Amino acid sequence: MSSRLAICPGSFDPITYGHLDIIERSAKVFDHVIVAVFHNESKSPLFSIEERMDLISEATKHLHNVSVDSHGGLLMDYAKKKKANALVRGLRAISDFEYELQITSMNRKLYEEIETFYIMANNKYSFLSSSVVKEVAKFNANVSDLVPEAVEKALKEKFNLN
Ligand code: ADP
Repeated sequence: MSSRLAICPGSFDPITYGHLDIIERSAKVFDHVIVAVFHNESKSPLFSIEERMDLISEATKHLHNVSVDSHGGLLMDYAKKKKANALVRGLRAISDFEYELQITSMNRKLYEEIETFYIMANNKYSFLSSSVVKEVAKFNANVSDLVPEAVEKALKEKFNLN
């Protein structure tokens, strides 16, 4: 059987334990997983693409079938180029569902051959997002149970809290 490649796309600004949980579970099911960091000029991210990729590489270094990449433009063009079999996304609250439904229908129209799989967020992380982490980390709140150690350190540096 040919090797199965999945892409976990997202902004990852920065990676949290919620993302990591989805990546780890994808890595158990697929032969290879690419975490693809999307660069979107219309959002103003806290971390640069390179910083986000470095933090993901550090957080996933124990996963030997996971690699990190970045892309701009249409995700479906990137997926075609990589010859990916699947996209994997995480589903948290109901609020994620409607958005994901729209995106997945559009993606299917653009590239029918690819399937999107959804993994239900771990209960521990179902209300966790990068935005919430940034909101509280800014005020020096303890986020050690929400993000990997390197991310916690990088947040402190960004917000000059050292
Ligand atoms: P986007 O900017 O595309 O929404 P994110 O970086 O916020 O991307 O998230 C990337 C993927 O990880 C999405 O599929 C999102 O639903 C999922 N995700 C984000 N936070 C969590 C979490 N706490 N638990 C599970 N999945 C999550």
